[in-house]
Amino acid sequence: MTSFFRSQKRFLSSATNLVRNNWTREEIREIYKKPLLNLVYDAATVHRQFHDPSKIQQCTLLSIKTGGCTEDCGYCAQSSRYSTGVKATRLMKKDEVLEKAKIAKAKGSTRFCMGSAWRDLNGRTRTFKNICDIIKGVRELDMEVCVTLGMLNDQQAKELKEAGLTAYNHNVDTSREYYSKIITTRTYDDRLNTLGSLRHAGLKVCSGGILGLGEKEEDRIGLIHTLSTLPLHPESVPINALVPIPGTPVGDKVKKPVRFTDLLRTVATARICMPKSIIRFSAGRMQYSESEQAFTFLAGANSVFTGDKMLTTPAVTWDEDSQLFHKWGLEGLKSFEYEDGSSAQNEDKTFTLPPKQRLVEQEKQAEAVATA
Ligand code: SF4
Repeated sequence: MTSFFRSQKRFLSSATNLVRNNWTREEIREIYKKPLLNLVYDAATVHRQFHDPSKIQQCTLLSIKTGGCTEDCGYCAQSSRYSTGVKATRLMKKDEVLEKAKIAKAKGSTRFCMGSAWRDLNGRTRTFKNICDIIKGVRELDMEVCVTLGMLNDQQAKELKEAGLTAYNHNVDTSREYYSKIITTRTYDDRLNTLGSLRHAGLKVCSGGILGLGEKEEDRIGLIHTLSTLPLHPESVPINALVPIPGTPVGDKVKKPVRFTDLLRTVATARICMPKSIIRFSAGRMQYSESEQAFTFLAGANSVFTGDKMLTTPAVTWDEDSQLFHKWGLEGLKSFEYEDGSSAQNEDKTFTLPPKQRLVEQEKQAEAVATA
């Protein structure tokens, strides 16, 4: 039996019991470094076991309070420490936000995400109340609602949950080792503490990273190791490709988008290590061709951001995505589709063959070829 068939047999025989949070870094490294097409095939196999591969969720991200942030994230246009031309604004009015959410819904987005640029919510009692009110308004549109507002404590997380928030975004960005090269005003453990507060409040977690920060392969492996060894995997894992912003320390250094093959490896490895999560191909998607984007969907990405903008950077428009979906045979995921037992939460969902049966058949085929 060749080493390929041995490793494939090992992979397929473990593929029916894939939701684990005890991954070692070595195991993740072994997955990440597989020959690329084998890695994509394995990720696609896992993806079909847990998700309908024809469904992609469209999300829209709106900056409800832009710029003027005191943090020093080295890639961010909104930090007040860098000259990027971004003007600081106040919190948008509820009506304006709801108008944008209605447009997003009418165009096909089923999740509405809102970002505001600050370190945390401490001392912003009135603003926090206004944000809770906005969350209630978006939920009434029957959309999933996600916000990213910086660091939170247990009480704030609880109040956001009570306001109807579906999920909270708080990215760990990169590996623990590389984090301090990108951000110095808070620590990796600060990030993890906020993730703990979210879980404590019963909120769903959206946490992922950014590729193209000048990190090494080992940092991408470390990022996936952090996320996939949390007590519960984030339900949502955004993978962003850096859009370099002139005037920021990272943007002035990094001139090219992250290599597509590195992005694809990261998506595929994340899919294998966190099989139930929605993997969101987030910022920077327009830097890649349509077929490259489709390749990431094959490797397990099952959500995109669509709209006029992603916070301060350009996004793929609804018209472009509608053509892409039509051409590649994809359709939009409905709001809360993953909460009614119809897809990710249901391991036994049948597509063309019951997934477990298909895996057994694949194993038999691999065995037959290996022993021929
Ligand atoms: S990424 Fe968020 S916390 Fe960091 S500087 Fe930008 S707005 Fe502030």
